[in-house]
Amino acid sequence: MDLFKPMGSQPGESAGRKKALEVSEHVKCLILGSGPAGYTAAIYAARANLKPVLYTGMQLGGQLTTTTEVENYPGYPEGVDGPAMMEDLKKQAERFGTQVRFGMATRVDFSGKVKKVEIDERTLIEADTVILATGATAKYLGLESEERFKGSGVSACATCDGFFYRDKVVAVVGGGDTAAEEATYLAGLASKVYMIVRRDELRASKAMQKRVFNTKNIEILWKHQVKELLGDQVVTGVDLFKNKGEPGEEIVRLDIDGLFLAIGHTPNSEVFSEYLETDETGYVITVPGTTKTVIPGVFACGDLQDKVYRQAVTAAGTGCMAAIDAERYLGELD
Ligand code: NAP
Repeated sequence: MDLFKPMGSQPGESAGRKKALEVSEHVKCLILGSGPAGYTAAIYAARANLKPVLYTGMQLGGQLTTTTEVENYPGYPEGVDGPAMMEDLKKQAERFGTQVRFGMATRVDFSGKVKKVEIDERTLIEADTVILATGATAKYLGLESEERFKGSGVSACATCDGFFYRDKVVAVVGGGDTAAEEATYLAGLASKVYMIVRRDELRASKAMQKRVFNTKNIEILWKHQVKELLGDQVVTGVDLFKNKGEPGEEIVRLDIDGLFLAIGHTPNSEVFSEYLETDETGYVITVPGTTKTVIPGVFACGDLQDKVYRQAVTAAGTGCMAAIDAERYLGELD
């Protein structure tokens, strides 16, 4: 299917936009995403004279801009504010000539040697190589109180924020591998960790379950779900449903200092999924040890293709790999 025919001319499309987009420019290297992976790819691509153009996506700076302090990124002995660190990465990418623009990919056509990417349904860019660094978005429960306390008691990353809860009481929502991993990590810092699990069993692997069961300061609250968070400026507690929708449903109140969401991430791969191989949860599959996707000239890095480590430093590492892979691909074309 030619994605760049006028909207409304393809079966099943509503007659919204009538005009086909004109190609506005041709670039050697187009980078999508402005987290550590995207900016690191940009730094390397710019230094290799690929003249990269980077579109930031809607969340300028990526997931790290939703965290307060980053203390585990090498090179910042005093820690660094998440948004400040992303601003530094942006400046570093720009210093070597990356054009950083606000906008997000709304459609792609990876069928030809020259890749086409539509930005904000308005601009059409042709690129010899495309580096995908669109990341993943942590799932939240969707509660109003949860939104209010993001960054002041609500987090979706224990490795990022756990340190601030030393000797405090926290709760982790979820029963998968991430929740089990986060709970055991937090148990090494906090005085007490509750795991709020909606069913009467964990989804996590047996090995992870064993670790949870063997950790003394983790208490699992089976068949519990978050109703609402409590507190004024910061989280001080949570109301939970116990046995929701069943006879004997009740509300349980817990005093906690922090709530960690670990109910899964959604990789931002939907726009590319027609062309790329993804796993059952949407993570882009790359050739092991590289950032190559099934489409020559399209590379994926960062959390978009990593559901295991998901750290800023690992994302930056794969961003570097993607730029080197893109440079080599272009070299082989010449
Ligand atoms: P996951 O396996 O999808 O588990 C999500 C957990 O959150 C489940 O227990 C689920 O409950 C619960 N949940 C979902 N929505 C909820 C809601 N609205 N309210 C309350 N609970 C909710 O996600 P994940 O743990 O992030 O893992 C994703 C993938 O990465 C998995 O394949 C996992 O094995 C892998 N992973 C691997 C490692 C590792 O190898 N070290 C580490 C982390 C993740 P239900 O069980 O009731 O659905």
